[in-house]
Amino acid sequence: MAERTLSIIKPDAVARGLIGEILRKFEAAGLKIVAAKLVHLTPERARAFYAVHEQRPFFASLTEYMSSGPILVSVLERKGAIMKNREIMGATDPAKASPGTIRREWGKDVEKNAVHGSDGAETAASEIAFFFKPNEIHSS
Ligand code: UDP
Ligand code: MG
Repeated sequence: MAERTLSIIKPDAVARGLIGEILRKFEAAGLKIVAAKLVHLTPERARAFYAVHEQRPFFASLTEYMSSGPILVSVLERKGAIMKNREIMGATDPAKASPGTIRREWGKDVEKNAVHGSDGAETAASEIAFFFKPNEIHSS
């Protein structure tokens, strides 16, 4: 059965006009966009989304950045969607990401790294539910 993952195009990538280029990468990798919307997170909502990182030194800066402007949240679907999306995103630090990956092409630094992607089945389910109601997701 097809698997689902949550993707976020982060604020600076949206501001730089990269939504189309990044969505193209998803579709080229067979990741079907089954839900999508622009969202401007409040600082509180950004902190809730990244609650798992609450104790990390980058938490305050990350959540400030993620609430600094609109993001494009989407649900991507295909067999093995979670790992496929992580593969085309590339490593967290764009400087260490493989050539051709989204973060290597468009990430600015380890924080402003263009995209978020769920890292496992449980986080995918909870992150999708964080942004979308079941009837906002349109599988074929
Ligand atoms: N991040 C950061 N500094 C770091 C590590 C991570 O600012 O040293 C930010 C970065 O935006 C990253 C997010 O925190 O995408 C979540 O970190 P995680 O380790 O989960 O990386 P990811 O799963 O996004 O590759
Ligand atoms: Mg992560």
